[in-house]
Amino acid sequence: MPDRTLVVFRSAQTAEKPDLPGWKILSVVLGEQREIPQAAHRIASLLEGRDCVIVTSPRAAGWLARQDLSPAFRLPVFVAGPATATVLSENGWDARIPTGTGGAEAVALLVDQDFSRPLFVGAQETAGTVEEACRRRGLDLDHLPVYATLPRVDLTDSDIAASVGDGHIAFLAPTAVRFLRDLSPALFATLSVSRPAAAAGLATRQILSELGWLDIRLSTGPDFRSLTASFGGTMNSKELFERAQKVIPGGVHSPVRAFRNVGADPFYVESASGSRLRTVDGKELVDWIGSWGPMILGHNLSSVNDAVRRGLETGSSFGACSLPEVLLSEEICRRNPWVEMVRLVSSGTEATMSALRLARGYTGRPAFVKFRGCYHGHADSFLVAAGSGALTHGHPSSPGVTPDTAKDTVIAEFNDLDSVKAAFDGRPGEIACIFVEPIPGNMGLIPPAPGFLEGLRALCDRHGALLILDEVMTGFRVGPSGAAGLLNIKPDLATYGKIIGGGLPLAAFGGRRDIMEKLSPLGPIYQAGTLSGNPLACAAGLALLHELTPAVYERLEELGARLEKLVLGGIEGKPLCFQRIGSMATLFFHDGPVRTYADVAACDNAAYGRFFRKMLERGHFLPPAQFEAFFVSSAHSQADIERLADDMVSCATESLREVG
Ligand code: PLP
Repeated sequence: MPDRTLVVFRSAQTAEKPDLPGWKILSVVLGEQREIPQAAHRIASLLEGRDCVIVTSPRAAGWLARQDLSPAFRLPVFVAGPATATVLSENGWDARIPTGTGGAEAVALLVDQDFSRPLFVGAQETAGTVEEACRRRGLDLDHLPVYATLPRVDLTDSDIAASVGDGHIAFLAPTAVRFLRDLSPALFATLSVSRPAAAAGLATRQILSELGWLDIRLSTGPDFRSLTASFGGTMNSKELFERAQKVIPGGVHSPVRAFRNVGADPFYVESASGSRLRTVDGKELVDWIGSWGPMILGHNLSSVNDAVRRGLETGSSFGACSLPEVLLSEEICRRNPWVEMVRLVSSGTEATMSALRLARGYTGRPAFVKFRGCYHGHADSFLVAAGSGALTHGHPSSPGVTPDTAKDTVIAEFNDLDSVKAAFDGRPGEIACIFVEPIPGNMGLIPPAPGFLEGLRALCDRHGALLILDEVMTGFRVGPSGAAGLLNIKPDLATYGKIIGGGLPLAAFGGRRDIMEKLSPLGPIYQAGTLSGNPLACAAGLALLHELTPAVYERLEELGARLEKLVLGGIEGKPLCFQRIGSMATLFFHDGPVRTYADVAACDNAAYGRFFRKMLERGHFLPPAQFEAFFVSSAHSQADIERLADDMVSCATESLREVG
């Protein structure tokens, strides 16, 4: 698709530049005192044929740096002082020589370097100094520079018309609207009838509409994100989803995002902050999913952002060792004492797949036990369902998984120790490990029955199998040392993900030293990854972990408990069941209690779908499937919790009443 043009009118103070893929951005920068604006093409033409640029003040440097010229611009740049140099270099310009304190020094330098066609960029006040210095040094005044200070360059109607071309227009401030109207009422009127426009803020939008500008796109906030909403392909969620379906299977990169279980189409997120998501349709949602776990402190956390920004300055991936991976590994081990050694990977799926291979390699046994309804990522061995009647042979739950692979996955029932015993009896001496979500969240939140996890531990010990706790969801979520710490169960190996990457792709598996030492390069069991221990992801994870203090878990428990109390009070006597541990919870459309996969399977899915859609309408983003837990974050307020409880109770009640 050819680039489309967006002309952005913005004030000199607005240093940000919108970044819209597929759009060519032309900035028309307005001066500080409603001076004549500069069009970017105009500045470019000023630079043509020059042999150097002298920048004589930080303010001028700031102005110049905002002209979007730097990538194309290769002239030597001289600056008059260190402050000016700093402003330029912060904006990615390579300012050569800080020469001293003013225009005179800059001119002296110019003479030394024998440049004849400089461009001076400076505030008007500086112009006098420069002229004087030039005169003193005998420079020919006819060859004097163009002063690119704002008030000196005229911008005519035709300049503006040429800038706009047949592009769209964005106004970032009310002053920008007034400026354009005052500059050229006739042009303003012509543009208003023929161009769609975006307004970054409500005030700007209002002025535009008062002035007869008819086609104003979404006005979602006073920043460039709103432009993305307005011009991010100029598409709303429906249009984006249609476009996505042409190149992405089902339009999504992970099936749960398709909302198929709840009979809806997905929305597209434009940005997220704290407990809120903002969609490209301009809707704000309270987010109860938190990227499926990582956002335990809410979105857009400044500590994580800063860590990633700092990391970016030194590089995004090395494929070689770096400090952040060591620090994060130490932190994971420190907080989970049963993890004596850890290996970092990039996704939960990779962590569980690798841990399973390690368990098989370590024990020399082929089979393992997994529980119906627990999810451990999408590696072949886990995509297995219980065989009919018999517990001993699983069968593929997805085409592409071979029966040979599936036969070594033995399916048992969560919260049913007898089924696990039967699994061991059915494959004597062949079970390498039990793989379990200690607190399942992937069939809705199901608390382990008292003694169940202890029973698994004992069975593993008796049969020489390993106990692997999959804490991808629960790790650092239900407590500082996950479910293992909360429930006092010591695994041989554990898997982690979600939170430990701070929202970037990172996961881990770790545990007993004698087992972990069997991994390559120490041992023979192979495991590797190009992006494993990625420095940015490690930095993000570390920053997040550092913020996870005991006080955070206390607050999460407090919010969760309040929610539970309110919801339980509201659903009494209804065929609904609310289950929660810490900041994970599920409202089941079932009498309850929900203890096994069979209970989950008996839930009223259709009613859940109606419930989801109603909740979405009221501004809550809950899991688009009955079989998923939702998450409270510390960014949620008491008021959010109360609103959620109220809406949950009323939407669930309505959903039960309706059919279809
Ligand atoms: N294990 C558990 C318990 C999970 O909840 C998930 C994902 O939700 C995974 C493993 C797989 O993680 P990923 O989606 O990062 O591959």
